[in-house]
Amino acid sequence: MKNIVIFGAPGSGKGTYSDEIVAKYGMGHISTGDVLRGEIKNGTELGKVAKGYIDNGQLIPDELMIDILAKTYDALPQGTGVIFDGFPRTIAQAEALKKMLAGRGHDMGMMIELVVDEETLMARLLNRAIEQGRADDNEETIKKRFEVYRNQTAPLSEWFENEGLRHTFTWKGSKDQMLAEIFEAIDAENN
Ligand code: AMP
Repeated sequence: MKNIVIFGAPGSGKGTYSDEIVAKYGMGHISTGDVLRGEIKNGTELGKVAKGYIDNGQLIPDELMIDILAKTYDALPQGTGVIFDGFPRTIAQAEALKKMLAGRGHDMGMMIELVVDEETLMARLLNRAIEQGRADDNEETIKKRFEVYRNQTAPLSEWFENEGLRHTFTWKGSKDQMLAEIFEAIDAENN
């Protein structure tokens, strides 16, 4: 299986669709947000640093993030393909990922972009706050995360387009429809 970068705003469904893709294709899955929340839960030094950024809706500095990503990637079994969920979030991270993979004889494979209107995103994140109790799912922090997304992460979409990797899927109200379209694109890429 080719590697997949899943890309989109907070609440766009990166985690949800990653789980579905993993269930269908048996790929590895790296969610950098989950890695960081694990570090916070275990009270590690990295977790302490990460918490300050996450609680403020800010991004963890690139060098630190790139280092975490490479370590997580190398700890996974090789050969099954990996979904990168929540990474890269800046152009510097994208360049670093490309370089890191090339150094191992691998590549990014394809990018799946999830496009969802901001009103739907906010409603989903406030609902997730009730269901999962994530500390950064409150209205004030969500607004900051949207701003960070618009300024630092969204410009990456074009970077992927220039790399010839981008596949865009726009939310039209049906998860099943999104999934069917995503699976179709993954199958086409792997044929
Ligand atoms: P997520 O679960 O992907 O929404 O990530 C939650 C938070 O973790 C983000 O708001 C950032 O503070 C931090 N984070 C996750 N991935 C990254 C990344 N690739 N670069 C910088 N910060 C990240």
